[in-house]
Amino acid sequence: MSLTDDLYREIILEHFRSPRNSGRLENPTLISQGVNPFCGDELELTVALEGDVIRDLRVHAKGCSISQASASMMSEVIQGKAIPAAEALARQFKAAMLENTAMGTSPEWEDLQALEGVKKYPARIKCAILSWNTLLEGIEAHRSGKGQATHVEGEEGERPDLAHQVKPGETAPAETTSSLEEQAREVLKSVIDPELNMNVVDLGLIYGVDIQNGSIRVTYTLTSPGCPLGPIIQGQIQSALSRLPWVKEVHPDLVWQPPWDPRTMASEEVKTELGIW
Ligand code: ZN
Repeated sequence: MSLTDDLYREIILEHFRSPRNSGRLENPTLISQGVNPFCGDELELTVALEGDVIRDLRVHAKGCSISQASASMMSEVIQGKAIPAAEALARQFKAAMLENTAMGTSPEWEDLQALEGVKKYPARIKCAILSWNTLLEGIEAHRSGKGQATHVEGEEGERPDLAHQVKPGETAPAETTSSLEEQAREVLKSVIDPELNMNVVDLGLIYGVDIQNGSIRVTYTLTSPGCPLGPIIQGQIQSALSRLPWVKEVHPDLVWQPPWDPRTMASEEVKTELGIW
């Protein structure tokens, strides 16, 4: 893994964690929605135009780290731009992703260049260009006098592998309710796989948590059979869960089926950190 790859990944994660211009404008001039059915990415762009200038905009995005980071970067660079300039930027970015032409070199391209690495993963290019296509579609609608547009990523280009169709965030605990299972999963986040230095929940190593009258069975796997860390992780699971006041017994249950596959099982953040796009 090169230094540049690491740096790029860091920039993408930073935008994913703290998306710029996130939300919805109250009285937008233009609303454009985009969907990438290949990955499950969705976003809504609300724009306030003043004449030809993008005075303000917000992005409401759900989906993978690439799509959200790209939307965040886009919102930053097109704010305050006249429509033709935003359009030119979008076309140059898309060409760089789809046709391998050069990215810009001016300062506004600094973060966008981090998405260059995504080109190595054709299935994820649609994730990176979704927000830009949604913008272009919105501009098109505005030109024809409409205030609304919808863009759906099409079939052109490579099909994503099936693995990627698992919705992001499936391994993450829900935020609103706090069931016993969620408490258990939260506590299990303190169990770190020492090899990858990431927690077992986000890695997707916890397959199941069954709770019955204070007895808790954790079905889990390890990153590879023959992993010498097995006993350490089992001990950590045991002691982490014992901290919960309602837990009377802990039964860690190590399984090898299905084999661990970070592409489908790990959280978006872990996948990006591992460089799995
Ligand atoms: Zn995506």
